[in-house]
Amino acid sequence: MAVAQDLRQWGIWLAGERVDGDGRSRATIDNPATGEPLAEVTEATTADLDAAVDAAQSQLAGGWGRTPAAERSRLLHRLADLVHEHRRELTELEVANVGKASSSVVAEVHAAAATFRYFASIAGTADAGDALPIGGSVASYTRRHPVGVVGQVIPWNYPLMMASWKLAPAIAAGCPTIIKPATATPLTALRLAELAAEAGIPEGVVSVLPGPGSTLGQALVEHPGIAKVAFTGATETGVRIMQAAAPSMKRLTLELGGKSPNIICADADLSQAVPSSVWAIFYSAGQSCE
Ligand code: NDP
Repeated sequence: MAVAQDLRQWGIWLAGERVDGDGRSRATIDNPATGEPLAEVTEATTADLDAAVDAAQSQLAGGWGRTPAAERSRLLHRLADLVHEHRRELTELEVANVGKASSSVVAEVHAAAATFRYFASIAGTADAGDALPIGGSVASYTRRHPVGVVGQVIPWNYPLMMASWKLAPAIAAGCPTIIKPATATPLTALRLAELAAEAGIPEGVVSVLPGPGSTLGQALVEHPGIAKVAFTGATETGVRIMQAAAPSMKRLTLELGGKSPNIICADADLSQAVPSSVWAIFYSAGQSCE
């Protein structure tokens, strides 16, 4: 098909470099607004996952996990700058990949930059603990350490913003991170990884591995080298992830699908309450948790 020759080819982002080929399968990504093919994306294998975990573990032991908090903060500020500088490109990529209105995505890209900025600002104190005044001759205090390598599973409704919400706090806290984006919407997470490298965040701290949730996502959740999993998506998937993480007692953060009931009181201004409720339910084709 002639159009396929013009599709942008994306590799996986594995420990600081783009990796492609070697018999890995490729998925064609469509623009949902037009139905036209948009890009071809390499799918990571479980061997790629092992390699990403090894690289992340090396960073945890001797690199990022021991990088002073002030330096982590500086690099996150640089990444916030780069997301801001590339906001138009990221917006165009997200609009084409998700099929959303650019007015929505402009705000999401702004929120992504603001998220990196915020966590850059607090990273400087991420390792701080408390002094515990137990008294007597006992000196008691707490210190914070990176929890370990973090695996993050991202949905398709806010790909860049969700990736930023998960990535920024993890790397601010010194945790190397492996992201599995949704199969349909991996492009901005892959671009974000390139920007993280450009910002100077060392190789192995950020890997982005597109691939099917049922196999690659499941393998990530079960991987013994991953200490914590953060997931946003369907409640049923959250249940599977909780079960899969239980044998190795991983820490979990689950943000699951759901719509909250709206309670409209008798004295409410219906001219405001009704449109607000309709917006909350149906904004973004109804695919926002409100
Ligand atoms: P899923 O939960 O299937 O997908 C979300 C992410 O989880 C994707 O990256 C997916 O990969 C991955 N995944 C799927 N199965 C596994 C698994 N066994 N282990 C690890 N990762 C896995 O959601 P859907 O896309 O099917 O959406 C269904 C509904 O869920 C939506 O209509 C919405 O109601 C809700 N939802 C809520 C979200 C929220 O923001 N709270 C976000 C997304 C969905 P892959 O893309 O390859 O399948």
